[in-house]
Amino acid sequence: MSEKRLALVTGGNRGLGLETCRQLAQKGFQVLLASRDLMIGEKKAHELQAEGLDVHSFQLDVADPNSIKRIYDEIRNRWNRLEVLVNNAGILIDQEQESTEVHHLEDLFRLHRENILHTFQVNVLGAFELCDRFGLLMQEQRYGRIVNVSSGLGQLSQMQDGFTAYRISKAALNAVTRIFASKFKDYDVLVNSICPGWVKTDMGGPQAPRSIEEGVLGIIWAATLPENGPTGGFFRDGKLIEW
Ligand code: NAP
Repeated sequence: MSEKRLALVTGGNRGLGLETCRQLAQKGFQVLLASRDLMIGEKKAHELQAEGLDVHSFQLDVADPNSIKRIYDEIRNRWNRLEVLVNNAGILIDQEQESTEVHHLEDLFRLHRENILHTFQVNVLGAFELCDRFGLLMQEQRYGRIVNVSSGLGQLSQMQDGFTAYRISKAALNAVTRIFASKFKDYDVLVNSICPGWVKTDMGGPQAPRSIEEGVLGIIWAATLPENGPTGGFFRDGKLIEW
């Protein structure tokens, strides 16, 4: 059996998730690249394997509790351990709809409701259920690093209008971080939120100032914290930021 530490990255097929898989594997992790579409995930994993990296693909739709249970059972049966969980998968769907012309107020209210519910399923519930399951496995092994990829748009101290569903979801994800950090505080299971900054990805867009490599630095930092490292915090580039 491989002695390598095992890391699971959600939304690992593109953007920050894919680069996180690459950098963790470069640091000696065996990386499980989870993607909603297995074919795309396999293609990306093969590309990283061609770079000499130990990366394997798994199907995971974080909005589907059955899919979460499946990957949990598979990891539990095959390895019975997980050292690092990066809850990276996320969506930002407000933009399209806020720019859509809405002629009836009722349509607008319905859109907001649908947006919030759908965004919550992916950005909050998915991460919550993964923390819930894998956190217990980490508690058993008395070691774990959980990184919840949040956003400055979820900071309550900076909260304002715009990207409503996304902002609410990331504020809630930060609450998830605090809850599990408290639950696992005595077991060397460190749970933190990080903000990658505004990064050039499909979500961030081409005008974003940061490269993907820069955005991923803070994720890797939180995934590889030493014993007695911080837990229950919100960080950008390894520095504490306000909730
Ligand atoms: P991205 O390029 O749009 O990638 C998003 C990833 O999430 C994709 O792999 C996507 O998979 C996956 N995903 C979406 N819904 C999913 C689901 N139901 N199940 C599994 N995977 C799902 O975005 P990114 O910029 O890399 O964002 C990664 C994380 O960073 C997100 O949580 C985002 O909120 C956060 N963030 C980004 C920025 C930024 O400026 N880019 C800033 C702050 C925070 P598919 O390919 O199948 O859609």
